[in-house]
Amino acid sequence: MTISSLTKIFEPIQINSLELKNRLVVPAMGTNFANPDGTVSERLKDYLVARADGGFGLIITEITAISPYGKGSPVQLSIWDDKFIPGFRDLAKAIHAKEAKVAVQLYHPGRQTLSFLTGRPLVAPSAIPCPVCREIPKELTVEEIWELEEQFAEGARRAKEAGMDAVEIHGAHGYLIAQFMSGYANHRSDAYGGDLEGLLRFPIEIIHKIRETVGADYPIIFRLSGDERVAGGRTIQETKTIIPLLEQAGVNAFHVSTGVYASFDYITAPMAIPPGYNVSAASEVKKATSVPVITVGRINDPRMAEEILKEGQADLVAMGRASLADPELPKKTAAGNYDDIRWCIACNQGCIDRLFDLEKICISCLVNPTVGKEREMALIPAPQSKRVLVVGGGPAGMEVARVAALRGHEVYLYEKEEKLGGQFKLAAVPPCKQEITKIINYLSIQIKKAGVKVALGQEVTEKTIDNLQPDAIVIATGGTPVIPDIPGIEEEGVVTAFDVLGGKVTPGRSILVIGGGMVGCETADFLGQIMGCRVTLVEALPRVAQDVGGSTRYFLLQRLAQEKASIITSASVKRFVKDGVILERNGKEKTLSGFDTIVLATGIAPVNKFASKIRGRVKEMYVIGDAKQPRKALDAIAEAAEIGRKI
Ligand code: SF4
Repeated sequence: MTISSLTKIFEPIQINSLELKNRLVVPAMGTNFANPDGTVSERLKDYLVARADGGFGLIITEITAISPYGKGSPVQLSIWDDKFIPGFRDLAKAIHAKEAKVAVQLYHPGRQTLSFLTGRPLVAPSAIPCPVCREIPKELTVEEIWELEEQFAEGARRAKEAGMDAVEIHGAHGYLIAQFMSGYANHRSDAYGGDLEGLLRFPIEIIHKIRETVGADYPIIFRLSGDERVAGGRTIQETKTIIPLLEQAGVNAFHVSTGVYASFDYITAPMAIPPGYNVSAASEVKKATSVPVITVGRINDPRMAEEILKEGQADLVAMGRASLADPELPKKTAAGNYDDIRWCIACNQGCIDRLFDLEKICISCLVNPTVGKEREMALIPAPQSKRVLVVGGGPAGMEVARVAALRGHEVYLYEKEEKLGGQFKLAAVPPCKQEITKIINYLSIQIKKAGVKVALGQEVTEKTIDNLQPDAIVIATGGTPVIPDIPGIEEEGVVTAFDVLGGKVTPGRSILVIGGGMVGCETADFLGQIMGCRVTLVEALPRVAQDVGGSTRYFLLQRLAQEKASIITSASVKRFVKDGVILERNGKEKTLSGFDTIVLATGIAPVNKFASKIRGRVKEMYVIGDAKQPRKALDAIAEAAEIGRKI
């Protein structure tokens, strides 16, 4: 099948009175782009409009609070008062101007938040804490339940008044409505708990009240987790039982996600989980309903979306992170420009990992640093075309070359290896990391399309600079493994994680890996799973993989446990001996020996000596990425994107 044969995803579809031009949905994703007072900001609007402009048929706002005490994030988009209507009105107009439709996701977190965000004790159907948030909530009284139902209905009224095309009731992911619907969180014995009827009373009363408020034609979408993936949580079989009852109450479409906070690693699944892992749940729901069903969950390829629709597993496909990575995915797909799609690789580094980092808060995207900066990072032609030399063909080098060339500069990129990709080539080697190659491919193709002159297998020398006479030079020469100064290291012979992942050495059977950060853990995973080695991993800190984001870390550690890797934390290497090391742990020394190979993963040092040699010889010089300071790929690519716009 070629990309131009995709047709199903572009067919229109009806949800109640709403006609959508295609089947591609941007689902609700937390961004923290709203104004601090919860109103729609210009930044949020730009971000959503970019996805509408890119061709998505339906855009659903992020979690939107129906109560001032229903906050789940520091910057909480809100609709609990009429003062929020004007912002939504502007948003609706802007999205309609791009021929897309927009829905508001009505949300209350219940027990899955923190009281420092809500400003009040948490509330829930029962006084049982979420195992992640760990605050004991107050059990809601029946009067309080009725008040919340009214607040959901009022939220819907405001959405309609603002010109929003639909509402989505957030009954998924273990939030308040989901808490009522599941014996996992609802232990009530009154009318709002107990049997199926009791568990569904709260959502059904909300649906009824919204319907009374917005009228018969207005579309109501209901999002729920097909399977909550926790002991005592709702299974897909039980979900199928409740679907007809929710439909009967007035739901016009179901949006089938998965999980609760305690199974969060499956909600925004990382690379370790296969694409489309949650489609079967939508397919089961579809058997139980006559209204459209939206599927979601790591669907990043329009060809997969097409197959899902063709096979009748769902009626619409939500492509959340894929829309962050490339807001123009639908347009590019329609035009058959498959090579131009910037793929989401499910790294989670820029999106969900940042959302839960209280220092960073706002999302970004590893492969698309313009997320949330659509206006300030728009590509503007350079006032004057310059000759730019980029040294290094890793992700940072390729991104800076791509951007500079698109702005009209004459760009030369030199890479000393025979292939482009830099450290990304090694990063793609461990298990479940292959999708990184998609970004190497994307950037390799894009720089050529943009007219960058690429020289492979060539090191840049002073002579190269004399010949080229560049106006600007960008040093993106990456990093090299740190070899720590520890007695015995020279005599005993060690190899680095780069040597192992790069296929430069064949390790023995019994391996000691020194350094339990991301590189060490992923190398251990490679050695255990791919090379069939017995691995011992030593880390100086109390936890391994500290620099790896939540769900990626969860599955990485799970694999290391399956591979029976022995992990020793809070231990520092004092000396290398013949076939092992002497460690110090808790003030005591211990010898680990009997290893065939010792692998170092003790950090990365910048490679940038060339910069000092040529400083002053070129008008503009920039050192970027790991060559400046070893960091995550997210930071290196963001820096490259910024410098590419500055030259
Ligand atoms: Fe996808 Fe990674 Fe971008 Fe998130 S940061 S949208 S997971 S590529």
